[in-house]
Amino acid sequence: MKPSATQEEVDAVVARIESVDAKAHRSTGDEVTVIGVVGDLEHIERLELEGHAGVDRVMRILKPYKLASSQFRQDQQSVLEIAGRRIGGEHFALIAGPCTVESRDQLLTAARDMVAGGASMLRGGAYKPRTSPYAFHGLGQEGLRLLAEAKEESGLPIVTELMDVRDLEAVTEVADVIQIGARNMQNYTLLTEVGRSGVPAIIKRGLSSTIEELLMAAEYVLKEGNENVILCERGIRTFETAYRFTLDLTAIPVIKELTHLPVIVDPSHAAGRRVLVEPLSLAAAAVGADGIIVEAHPNPDEAICDGPQQIVSADFPRFAAKVELAANLAGKSISAPAGV
Ligand code: PEP
Ligand code: MN
Repeated sequence: MKPSATQEEVDAVVARIESVDAKAHRSTGDEVTVIGVVGDLEHIERLELEGHAGVDRVMRILKPYKLASSQFRQDQQSVLEIAGRRIGGEHFALIAGPCTVESRDQLLTAARDMVAGGASMLRGGAYKPRTSPYAFHGLGQEGLRLLAEAKEESGLPIVTELMDVRDLEAVTEVADVIQIGARNMQNYTLLTEVGRSGVPAIIKRGLSSTIEELLMAAEYVLKEGNENVILCERGIRTFETAYRFTLDLTAIPVIKELTHLPVIVDPSHAAGRRVLVEPLSLAAAAVGADGIIVEAHPNPDEAICDGPQQIVSADFPRFAAKVELAANLAGKSISAPAGV
């Protein structure tokens, strides 16, 4: 729309789009409103929107992901605000916590260490995707209850994984951000339901997924009107076996060229070993990531799951201070509550 377009003109264009059963996604920026149109191309072309009052120009987005594409936001990065924390642009999110919620003591101790290190959010899984059906699959409802307690005590927003749409309601009662795990990146019914819930989501890149597939996964959530999507590079499968996965750092600047969405890095699952987490975190900040999600445990040697890769939570403040320096070098600051 033209910068001078009135609200009535925007509404009239949206009504016109909806009259042919196409979907209109409004994106209101500081200067202009962009209306994303998704629907049958023939019908949309027949609307002849160019001539409509207030319309500046009509552009076709050629990428298969439309709402996720940089073009949709005219190359402006999206800055999301989640529970008072900003992510994207100049705001670097420091998300940390245990792989799995194991006990009240474990979670609350970790949460206190995260607060001491100035974390932006607390992570912890109550529902865990495990390779073996015989492994521990998380505390479920009890884990969610403990996360609610940790949130109350620490004031940190909660990131936790949703694996099954049947748990959506219970998970969204405590989660500020729903994590879609790497193994569920292409679970399209799950993505659609998370889109409909409107709850912010982190979508982790599948173990063998291309960047385009990741962006298409984001499109499923965006299509339902949920604009709060964060992408996460967590390592991919390659021929290399010396570490758990290959952290695809090149993907960060490449994804940021293709999309306006924030992109974070999970160094823990990529590394598989604690000593690698710090250098990979610093590298993530250096290549322009909008944040990291790191596993930290009070006593990783006794962790039920992913022990070798979890950093010792008491060491988190020291670790966080180094990451902050790297983020600062990249022109970002650690995301703290709005106004602080
Ligand atoms: C996790 O974050 O604990 C996890 C299981 O991650 P991913 O889905 O990336 O393997
Ligand atoms: Mn884990």
